[in-house]
Amino acid sequence: MRDSWNLTAEFRDHPDEFTFGFAPPDGYPQCFCTRCEAGNPNFSGKGLGQPSLSEVWFRFGNAVAAEVAKEFPDRWLFSNGYADRARPPEGIGPLSPNLGIQSAMLDSCMFHPIQEPI
Ligand SMILES: [Zn+2]
Repeated sequence: MRDSWNLTAEFRDHPDEFTFGFAPPDGYPQCFCTRCEAGNPNFSGKGLGQPSLSEVWFRFGNAVAAEVAKEFPDRWLFSNGYADRARPPEGIGPLSPNLGIQSAMLDSCMFHPIQEPI
């Protein structure tokens, strides 16, 4: 048993594992520590999961995926993009090519296609 756990060690120890999923707790989690607050652009008035955690969460997920890709470029990491992560992040450059985001537009209208004007 190792003292700490990380994804590169996991993939090194288990070469048959090709994906790993991770996500914050279900619902609308927020962190109010000074680091997260500093990284939150406080989107407002644009809908899609407010207050949005997208910038903080996907900045973290992208950094983890980029670090894993250095040693394991063929392994995929997945996270979810719903609730307060439904809004695409705007302040993060291209996402790491090994990061998949599974989206569920739970707050959208069930009667009209998402591209239809309200
Ligand atoms: Zn925080």
